[in-house]
This record gives sequence, structure tokens and C-alpha cells, in this order.
Amino acid sequence: MDFQLTDEQQLIRNNMREFADRYVEPIAAEIDENSRHPAELFQKLAEGGWMGMPIPVEYGGCGTDYLTHILAVEELSRSCSSTGFSVASHVIVAFLPLLYGTEEQKRKYLVPLAEGKHMSAFALTEPGAGTDVMAATSRAVLDGDEYVINGTKTFITNGPIADTYIVVCWTDKAAGRKGMSAFIIPRGTPGLRPGKHFEKMGMRSSQTSEVVLKDCRVPRESMLGQAGQALAMSMGIFEQGRIGIAAQAVGILQAALDESIKYSKERVQFGVPISRHQAIAWMITDMATDLSAARFLTYHAAWLRDQKQPFAKEASMAKLFASEAAMRHTVKAVQIQGGYGYCKGAKVERLMRDAKITEIYEGTSEAMRMVISANLLR
Ligand SMILES: Cc1cc2nc3c(=O)[nH]c(=O)nc-3n(C[C@H](O)[C@H](O)[C@H](O)COP(=O)(O)OP(=O)(O)OC[C@H]3O[C@@H](n4cnc5c(N)ncnc54)[C@H](O)[C@@H]3O)c2cc1C
Repeated sequence: MDFQLTDEQQLIRNNMREFADRYVEPIAAEIDENSRHPAELFQKLAEGGWMGMPIPVEYGGCGTDYLTHILAVEELSRSCSSTGFSVASHVIVAFLPLLYGTEEQKRKYLVPLAEGKHMSAFALTEPGAGTDVMAATSRAVLDGDEYVINGTKTFITNGPIADTYIVVCWTDKAAGRKGMSAFIIPRGTPGLRPGKHFEKMGMRSSQTSEVVLKDCRVPRESMLGQAGQALAMSMGIFEQGRIGIAAQAVGILQAALDESIKYSKERVQFGVPISRHQAIAWMITDMATDLSAARFLTYHAAWLRDQKQPFAKEASMAKLFASEAAMRHTVKAVQIQGGYGYCKGAKVERLMRDAKITEIYEGTSEAMRMVISANLLR
């Protein structure tokens, strides 16, 4: 059993740490405060090759393994988890044309995504269909050589700014789990528009909106993969995406630990640094222990994926544990900083708000428990 990262993985992680210290950390509080998508930062991420790391070189990526990309997401999230999430979710969406696209779709859509010239959005969730995706009502109807799509998607990451949308909707409701299909649709297509924009508690620089499709006509060739394949494609993509969310939570946890150690050594109460009070020292001890466990679960799931071994259960375990640990311990990190931690400007306050979403998107904690128990008890 080898717990050592390769030289290349360590180098890339260190490079991302330097990048995040230089470009992300200084603007993280401002983009959170203003809910601002930092286009200038994403241009730098694109120039550095960070937007398509695990995509093969021939399609504009860097051709790394998935674990290496996960290390970068963790380091980015340590400075700004909105940015870490944006990169992680962008790569996951790009996997769809990589795995299921025609050669033409790969050239047209995947290459600019992997190069970071275009942003992606994946639209599955609907107002009445969250965890229960089968409750979706959006549908595409064939009319000659075109599909006509109608429906409203909600909570779509990058909804307001994406260049390339992948939309999942019914093409044959009677076929049940084999009745949904995916369509790849460029921004500017008549009938597709971003809808209501959501102001969020955390993850504020990541843009989230509805995506409204009203008589949106797309050519037959816009279908991604086979008709009826979209649910299976989505579930496969979520398995990988959950490792990215776990990495985001690990980055948040590491930042909470960094802040807690630093603050508790500086803040003096009752004549000693508060780190000398056992109640505080034990909070930090529990934080560090859960961080190690979360990190191992996350790396293990990514490693299984790279070894082409089954990893659905492990990805769900990593997301479940890391996200709940991030939530638990960011609350403690605020506690350690007392009133100062509760005020705007304290990094721990942002970490606590950002941690919550990791228990919700790409499948809630309850959905993770469903996946894990189904794997254990089948
Ligand atoms: C910031 C953000 C970004 C997102 N990005 C995207 C995106 O890019 N694309 C996309 O398609 N979606 C996206 N989503 C949607 C996200 O995946 C859903 O919010 C999530 O799947 C949960 O769905 P819901 O919010 O409708 O909650 P619901 O499904 O309504 O769940 C509400 C509660 O009930 C619980 N619950 C539901 N069913 C069960 C059950 N059978 N047993 C036990 N408990 C249950 C849930 O765990 C949860 O606690 C995003 C959401 C947010 C908030």
C-alpha cells in the first residue's frame, strides 16, 4: 500500500498552492461580498491549464489523472471554495462530451471547455425535481430534424455565464429511467435563457440561476450520447463530481484548521493564549483528526477511479464524511474566534457559510446515505 503522492502530483499541488496564495486569497473576501464571478481569475486559471487538467491533451486538457485534479481543487478551495467548486464542476461537465460526445462535438465543445475559453453548465434539477430527478417535466419533442425543448431548470451553476449548456430532459417519458436524453446547446441559441438569479448564503461568487427553455429548437445532432441514456450518464458523472465536492470540503476544513491554530496561539485570555485552554485544544485536535480522515477517503475514492475500479460507494462516503466534517468544524472554528469570528471579514465566517452547500449539492447527505446503504445491503 503506497500513501505517497507522486513527484508530479506534489509539484502540481504546490503550484496550485502558489497560484491560490497569489491570485485567489487576495480577492476571495471581495468576490464573496459582491457575489462576483471573477472573469480575470478564470482567465489566469485557463492560462495555467487548470480548467481541463484531467482532459486528454488531444482535446485541450493536460492529461493528468483525476487525483491530481482533485489535489488542485482542494488547494483552490482552501483559499476560495466557490472558485474550487467552479473548477471542479466545470471539469465534470466537460467529462460528458469527452465520454459520450461524437468527434465533432468533442472538437466543437470539449476543446474550448478544456482550454478554459468557454464555461459550462449542466442543467438537470427542476423546481419540482431535486433529489427525485424522475419528477422532471422538461421535455424535447422531435419536429422534423429538430428537437423542440420546453421546461425550466433551477439552481444551475454557471447558469448566467455559461457558453455551453448540457440540458437533460424527457424524450420518451414512457421509457422511465431510459426515457431521458441530454442535449448540448451553445449560449445564444434562441429559446434558451438564464432565468432567476439566486442570492446564496455561501458560495457567493459561483453564479447560480434558473435556465429557461421555451420552444428552444436544436438540431438532432445536438443530442449527447444515445437517446434515453442521460440518466445513466448523469449518475456516472455525479459519482466523479462527488469526489470533487469532497475535495472542496477538505480544502474548507484545512483552511478552518489553519485559521484556528493561528488565532488560538495569538488570542490571549486569562493570561495565556487560548490554545492553552484544553477546551480549545481539543476542538482543534478533533478538527485535525477529521481532516485527515476526510482527506484519505477523498484521495482513496479518486485513486480507485484512476485505477478503473468501482468507486460509487467510496465517492459517496468521501462526500458524506468530508462535507459533514466541514460543517461541524467550521462552526467550531467560528466558536474559537468568539465574537470576532462571527463578524464579516473573518475568514472562518465565510468558511462556515461555504461549508453548508457541500452537504446539499451533487446529492444531499441523505442521498449519499441512500447510495451507500444500497451498495452495502443489496
Ligand atoms: C448552489 C447550488 C448549485 C447547484 N448546481 C446545480 C447544477 O449545476 N445543476 C443541477 O442540475 N443542479 C444543481 N443544483 C441542485 C442540487 O443538486 C439540488 O439542490 C439537490 O440535488 C437537492 O435537491 P433539492 O434542493 O430540490 O432538495 P429536495 O430533493 O427537495 O430535498 C429536500 C430535503 O429532503 C431530503 N430528501 C429528499 N428525498 C429524500 C428521501 N427519499 N429520503 C430522505 N430524505 C430525502 C433531502 O436530502 C433534503 O434534505 C445546485 C444546487 C445549489 C443549491
